[in-house]
Amino acid sequence: MKTDIEIAQEAVMEPITKVAESIGIEADDLELYGKYKAKLSEEFLRKIQDRPNGKLILVTAINPTPAGEGKTTTTVGMGEAFGRMGKKAVIALREPSLGPCFGIKGGAAGGGYAQVVPMDELNLHFTGDFHAITSANNLLAALLDNHIQQGNDLGIDTRQIVWKRCEDMNDRVLRNIVVGLGNKTDGFVREDHFVITVASEIMAILCLADDMKDLKERLSRIVVAYNYQGEPVTAGQLKAVGAMAALLKDAIKPNLIQTLEHTPALVHGGPFANIAHGCNSVRATKAAMKMADYCITEAGFGADLGAEKFFDIKCRKAGLTPDAVVLVATIRALKYNGGVAKADLGAENLEALKKGIVNLEKHIENLQKYGVPVVVTLNSFITDSEAETAYVREFCETRGCEFALSEVWEKGGEGGIALAEKVLKAIDEKENHFHVLYENELSLQDKIKKIAQEIYGASDVVFAPAAAKQLKRLTELGFGDLPVCMAKNQYSLSDDPTLLGRPSGFELNVREVYVSAGAGFVVVLTGAVMTMPGLPKAPAAYNIDVDDSGRIVGLF
Ligand code: ADP
Ligand code: MG
Repeated sequence: MKTDIEIAQEAVMEPITKVAESIGIEADDLELYGKYKAKLSEEFLRKIQDRPNGKLILVTAINPTPAGEGKTTTTVGMGEAFGRMGKKAVIALREPSLGPCFGIKGGAAGGGYAQVVPMDELNLHFTGDFHAITSANNLLAALLDNHIQQGNDLGIDTRQIVWKRCEDMNDRVLRNIVVGLGNKTDGFVREDHFVITVASEIMAILCLADDMKDLKERLSRIVVAYNYQGEPVTAGQLKAVGAMAALLKDAIKPNLIQTLEHTPALVHGGPFANIAHGCNSVRATKAAMKMADYCITEAGFGADLGAEKFFDIKCRKAGLTPDAVVLVATIRALKYNGGVAKADLGAENLEALKKGIVNLEKHIENLQKYGVPVVVTLNSFITDSEAETAYVREFCETRGCEFALSEVWEKGGEGGIALAEKVLKAIDEKENHFHVLYENELSLQDKIKKIAQEIYGASDVVFAPAAAKQLKRLTELGFGDLPVCMAKNQYSLSDDPTLLGRPSGFELNVREVYVSAGAGFVVVLTGAVMTMPGLPKAPAAYNIDVDDSGRIVGLF
């Protein structure tokens, strides 16, 4: 069997100008990055603003397992299926981070015959957006420390600096560091921290900003520290906004590439869904809805994280209404949730499937709380048995969901037609009463409780003293109306990654809370979740290489 990268490298891509032309975009509307990548020009984005909106379809999944679920694969395959059915579709994905690429998860271009290309470039530096975000983040950090060095006119309390440096790499030794060691000219000594770029507030801002004006307003609102009076000090006060915006000038333009079957794909922005809000940029999603009749987009990890934040943060902030949600499950992952070891997932095991399907059940119930039509799809693996598939189908249909098997990994767009048809049916026939889970007016504590109890299934929430104090302070400072961005491990519905299936009776532990005032949400760290990942014992980096002709190998 061919690997993802082998399939991707054998693909014959079309020039990106031709892909754009297929949906009526002229070469003039593109800023080319070589032959196969382009950014949409600001002029083009302005030009399409008055067009009617296409339908918005979200792809999400059950909790991830080491067995793999295939949200990106499904998103890509479904876009291709729409293309084969003669419908105009554009997919909208996140850009991959280098962290997982060299760590454990591999790339993020989809898989098998449902991938976006050029896969290796997308997974490595792509069009440089993440480098720009990293630079803007670290420029702000440099200006902050320099301000203190030069006399600290703003009275920044160096014990209350909340802005962190960032890097797009899994590097655990940078989680807690000391900066400013040395002489008087080397700055003030203080504890500092790194987060991974995909958890930086700049990433969230880039993904939520409407345009350059909005981006700058958001950048200026970033809270970097508190002064000796306990008042917030912002990036605006540090005079950092213009230079940061200059660094982000091109990064805020959506990137256009193609699927293996030449369906247009906007790939833009990439916050993680466990420690950030998990969705591609609003600009790309809105552009895709103007460019085509169907925009298919993915939110990260399970529906407890990605979909919750897609609805409660992205849709709320951007005024978007999703038309349907596709919930991806695999028989392997359901059996894993039922207690089967990874090595044994290939064998038919209806008992384990019945035990593990409670995870799918909970996600169906959760998505139905948002009032939007749900289609469940089984991302088919060659090891699935007919009896197992039939069991899942019936399970979904008795819960009021459309069901379709997806074979896009093996067959590309052809394998996604059954799914695309079910999605169209759901959009046409099912009622859509989309609403967010909670109102802005609810207190921060109650927002967290509502998500914990209704989405995760927790019995209660325990706030660590520091977190309780911080919530009180943020409310007093006027941030109480913001939505919350939950940071939680992705493997379990709870904050304990070992509790699989559908845990209940647990308490959610809130450890730390801070405001991302520019992004417009309050980040809530639960359990032991980290904003800077580490590498595993045998990192994926060991297998990656480039041959003498410049061809990348070992990316997956
Ligand atoms: P997600 O977006 O949910 O993280 P991806 O779509 O990126 O998942 O898929 C994760 C990995 O699983 C990819 O390497 C992909 O090739 C593999 N994969 C996905 N679907 C299948 C399938 N049906 N059969 C075999 N491998 C698959
Ligand atoms: Mg993905």
